[in-house]
Amino acid sequence: MMIFPANCWHDWRDTVDKKLLDILVCPLCKGPLLFNKAAQELICKVDRLAYPIRDDIPVMLEEEARRLEADEEI
Ligand SMILES: [Zn+2]
Repeated sequence: MMIFPANCWHDWRDTVDKKLLDILVCPLCKGPLLFNKAAQELICKVDRLAYPIRDDIPVMLEEEARRLEADEEI
């Protein structure tokens, strides 16, 4: 069994776009997500939803996601 030390999440933000984005997909359309580092959000371009990252853990729930404004830059 693989045990991840708690502090392994500290480097997560630096590696998310390279590693986790290959694994993480939008729960609605199963499409790839964009990582907005400044906002700490994972964005689905297709559904125009931004999934929040709380305590370094992505919350991949549609009801938790923020709907992007029509004029919001992706
Ligand atoms: Zn989607």
